[in-house]
Amino acid sequence: MNESSKRDEYREIRINPIVPTESVLVSTARGLRPRKAEKPLAQHTESKITTCPFCIGNENQTPPTLASWPNDNEWQIRIVENLFPVLSDRNISNNLSFGLQHVIDGYGRHEVIIDHNNHSIHVDAMDAQHLHALFKMYRDRMQTLYDSDSRIKYVLVFKNFGPAAGASIAHTHSQIVAMPVVPENVANEMQHAHRHFQKFNQNIFSHLVDEALAFEATIYDRESGEVRRKISVGQYVIEKSKRFIAIKPFASRFEWEVQIYPLFAQSDYLACNDDDLRDFALIFKRTMQRLNKVIGGAQYNYFLHTIPHGDEFKKHHVSYQWHLEICPRTSIPTGFELGSGLFVSTVSPEDAARALREVKID
Ligand SMILES: [Zn+2]
Ligand SMILES: [Zn+2]
Repeated sequence: MNESSKRDEYREIRINPIVPTESVLVSTARGLRPRKAEKPLAQHTESKITTCPFCIGNENQTPPTLASWPNDNEWQIRIVENLFPVLSDRNISNNLSFGLQHVIDGYGRHEVIIDHNNHSIHVDAMDAQHLHALFKMYRDRMQTLYDSDSRIKYVLVFKNFGPAAGASIAHTHSQIVAMPVVPENVANEMQHAHRHFQKFNQNIFSHLVDEALAFEATIYDRESGEVRRKISVGQYVIEKSKRFIAIKPFASRFEWEVQIYPLFAQSDYLACNDDDLRDFALIFKRTMQRLNKVIGGAQYNYFLHTIPHGDEFKKHHVSYQWHLEICPRTSIPTGFELGSGLFVSTVSPEDAARALREVKID
């Protein structure tokens, strides 16, 4: 441990500015949180595995193709139904409620997006054109699912990569779940962002981005009067392009968490045009390259948060901003975290941001 990191050792509870009930304990003292002990992610190099249902030539081992790019025969990206859906449109249940037992029909759809026909490729190694096609497919499939049934309130796109992130199939894939309810964390974000807008007439997400870009302050220790921390320009910025920014949240639940936001006002990912998604694919690729370089073989979850569909959400367009949350899984949640709901981060978000920003990528 060098001099400066010793000086920076501190403990503080940081309140998530968007959802204040979600707080993070930043404690850079070692040993508070177990690191993932298992061996680093096995680096497969085979582009095709005969026993893998997602590999090219094994299409008969999955449900039929729902969409593909560039075409069904020579596909590079393919969408199929999930064999073990968490929600399905084959459910027969009526919304029976009894006492405190309120039930919502588990209607929905659960699909798998095979991100690439190459078995072993990682997202940061996919070319920008491929990622552009992938993000367009997310958007177009979300639209199709919303259009398919008016009971669909939210379509969640996410990816689990690596066993530490809960991926059960090694072949790179994302998932898409169309749900009859709005996920609690999206609802919380919307509600708090709406309140912030009513109070300050300002979109909290743009406010956050502005602060990440231009905030400058010195924090002094209350007792000794010594400088405790300097917040400097661009401290939380990882990557910036013309239309998007990747930032390290000030209150990050995961040590290496990064979020990508549009720099323009847009609440709905489905409103994002092809040009913007090209730029998004680039910043995403560079961010993942940085994460992979710094953590080495990153295992992660990412998910898209965007405004739910339905008239009741229209008032949120002005206060909400869609975004991508990338959560690398480098440690195991402890009883303290599960019991308190307070996430612990043993790397200071400022140090993590600096490491990600300064690492050299091609
Ligand atoms: Zn495969
Ligand atoms: Zn979010």
